[in-house]
Amino acid sequence: MDMSKAEVCIIGAGFSGLYLASRISSQFKVKVLDLKSEIGKPQHCAGIVSSRVVNALGNIVSEHIEGKFRKLVVLDIDRGSEVLHIKLSEPIFRIDREGIERSLAEISIAQETSINLRSRAVKINGNTVISTKDRICADLIVVAEGAVQKLTRSLGLGYTQDRVLGLQQFLRVQHLNLDENSVYVLVSDTFDKDCFGWLVPLRPHVLIGVMTRQHNGKEMLRHVEKLCGKLGIISVSSRGNIFGGTILRGPPLRRVSREYTLVIGDASGFVKPISGGGLYWIVRQVDILSNSVRITSDLSEVPKIYSMGIQRYYFKLKIDRYVHLLLKSIGYSKIVKVIGALLRQFPIAEYDEHSMNLLRIHKFVIKSSQLKFSQRS
Ligand SMILES: Cc1cc2nc3c(=O)[nH]c(=O)nc-3n(C[C@H](O)[C@H](O)[C@H](O)COP(=O)(O)OP(=O)(O)OC[C@H]3O[C@@H](n4cnc5c(N)ncnc54)[C@H](O)[C@@H]3O)c2cc1C
Repeated sequence: MDMSKAEVCIIGAGFSGLYLASRISSQFKVKVLDLKSEIGKPQHCAGIVSSRVVNALGNIVSEHIEGKFRKLVVLDIDRGSEVLHIKLSEPIFRIDREGIERSLAEISIAQETSINLRSRAVKINGNTVISTKDRICADLIVVAEGAVQKLTRSLGLGYTQDRVLGLQQFLRVQHLNLDENSVYVLVSDTFDKDCFGWLVPLRPHVLIGVMTRQHNGKEMLRHVEKLCGKLGIISVSSRGNIFGGTILRGPPLRRVSREYTLVIGDASGFVKPISGGGLYWIVRQVDILSNSVRITSDLSEVPKIYSMGIQRYYFKLKIDRYVHLLLKSIGYSKIVKVIGALLRQFPIAEYDEHSMNLLRIHKFVIKSSQLKFSQRS
């Protein structure tokens, strides 16, 4: 196996690896390697992102937007009732992850980045990446290996303990009794305490998904589909393949770098603990990283600058993680039902800011009860 050279070697051609490559390829000689044989496959993600993510992706995203939504509706599928309507301050989108990853790869390749597929990195030795096909010596190594965190652990940077299984399926529907401007968050007493489901109307399909801590993901998915059928929300004419994977719930890694190497994306545990969404944090991390490489021409400085840059986000995510644990101890389903009984509508949620929303809801409830009290007296 010959030794090749790169300024930056990225391990993982998922969203984080490719987004980073597309941002720095004009500046550096970049090599990306991935164990899979095709970009964008296998798909695992629901692809629901905020306007902030769409704006950050810029021009490439427009042809990959499949849905635009202004509201979240929490639906109790045991009772068939809409518990809470959450109006979003900005729309959210369903993006086609596979298409976006292909576009990011094309941009990077056009800037002379090489993407080596079917190449599994097995070891990082100082500034050298050893894979099943390549041996690459680089000034900077970026680990973007996703939730597996194998290399991340081997570097002594840790592991994100809290993980659930997320499974989903496209259903072709004959009949759809949903508001097509809304993403539906499903709650049920049969779900694990911190798990939920989702229904995304994408006519003529809906994307149905569930999160579970058990090994019963497929039965759970079928059960949820049946309940939705019984409630008259959907009537299914055919089903696509079931797909999905591991969803991380935190905590974020305390250390995300060491000499020559840094970690981004799911590999770093930077995800929203309440929902498990990771794409927003990837966009933020890549922003910090591309600014770091602009600040210094010495790539050996970058891991340190990047680590310092994401410190404040680490603390923010720790707070979100504690909030998640608190909600989990009571049960997501119970919490939203209580909030729903008090409010029914919540008008100003920010999709990416879960703890902030809860704080706002708290203030909102206090204000409206003070108002009711003063009207009565
Ligand atoms: C069911 C489900 C639904 C989700 N829905 C949403 C959502 O709606 N919104 C949202 O924001 N997030 C969502 N997420 C989370 C989101 O998918 C992740 O945060 C995101 O995919 C992480 O991107 P990544 O590039 O870090 O990792 P990945 O996309 O997992 O990419 C990692 C890449 O590294 C490669 N790799 C791994 N090990 C090696 C190795 N040793 N050598 C070479 N290559 C390697 C893999 O083949 C893979 O291509 C969802 C996740 C799941 C499972």
